[in-house]
Amino acid sequence: MEQIDIVIIGAGTAGLTAAIYACRSGLSCVVLEENMYGGQIVNTGEIENYPGMPGVTGFDFANALHRQAEALGAKIQFSPVSAISKSDPWFYVETPSATWIAKAVIAANGAVHRKLGCEGEERLSGKGVSYCATCDGAFFKGKSVAVVGGGNTAAEDALYLSGICREVHLIHRRDQFRAHQATVRRLLAAPNVTPHYQATVQQITGDKRVEGILLSSPNGEQRLEVQGVFVAIGLSPNNQLFAPLCRLDEGGYFAAGEDCRTTCDGLFAAGDTRAKPLRQLVTAAADGAVAASMAAVYVGERIKS
Ligand code: NAP
Repeated sequence: MEQIDIVIIGAGTAGLTAAIYACRSGLSCVVLEENMYGGQIVNTGEIENYPGMPGVTGFDFANALHRQAEALGAKIQFSPVSAISKSDPWFYVETPSATWIAKAVIAANGAVHRKLGCEGEERLSGKGVSYCATCDGAFFKGKSVAVVGGGNTAAEDALYLSGICREVHLIHRRDQFRAHQATVRRLLAAPNVTPHYQATVQQITGDKRVEGILLSSPNGEQRLEVQGVFVAIGLSPNNQLFAPLCRLDEGGYFAAGEDCRTTCDGLFAAGDTRAKPLRQLVTAAADGAVAASMAAVYVGERIKS
């Protein structure tokens, strides 16, 4: 068993930023990551909306963040978390090879975009298939794209893209959108948005890049020529491990406010895993800073060892 001030779960932008802030507060910390460091941003080509760093690639951004956290003293271990429990005031965070005893835990474990699961989606991911219109929309200026989904994200993505792209096909599997009605009205009034109801994407086609999609609907099959496909069918958090410790909202996200405190003392949630209105790089970084600062206050005030 290894004792440490803070265990941070997840080495994406929120987790690595939390590590930077924890180290600079004089606390020891370990970051546990089951995949590669960087999180979702490594799937983005150029980042255009992170303040002060226009044009940086997601890969370079993740590398820089990783180097910065390690240089400040953060340990990063590539291992999944298999269990977490609390015996007041200590947290026990288990991985297959170690148990960490921590004074505080920051969950920065992200959320994953749901996938369509159709042929071509994975192969052309990053080559025209995107899960983030605000990140990648500008690369499709003047082109034809498809947005898949019927919720607020799909509706807002389609509206956003209608201002950039030549035409936007909005593909929804039902005959009614679940997005806010005001957004749907604006969407349907946009001259270059074509809704396709009761339609599902059977295949995304293209050799090196997306060239089109094959749709299936009650009217039969239809091919659309598009250069981009934006999949906006929701996110899935993966927070079941934490459910016995604290409250999750109905979508499975941590019910934690802007101070990143969960309903469990000493457990903080940062980034996409937290219930929040905007899931972006800048809000993930902000959450990491807030969560680590709050954790430092908690460790200083509440834990005497
Ligand atoms: P969502 O509300 O869960 O909607 C997902 C959409 O994708 C639904 O229309 C769903 O169809 C469809 N879908 C799910 N799985 C699919 C599949 N395998 N194939 C095809 N379609 C599929 O997700 P979201 O739009 O990302 O929004 C997430 C949450 O954030 C929501 O609570 C939303 O209101 C909120 N949000 C709010 C705002 C805002 O207030 N401005 C903006 C964005 C997001 P069905 O309709 O048939 O289920």
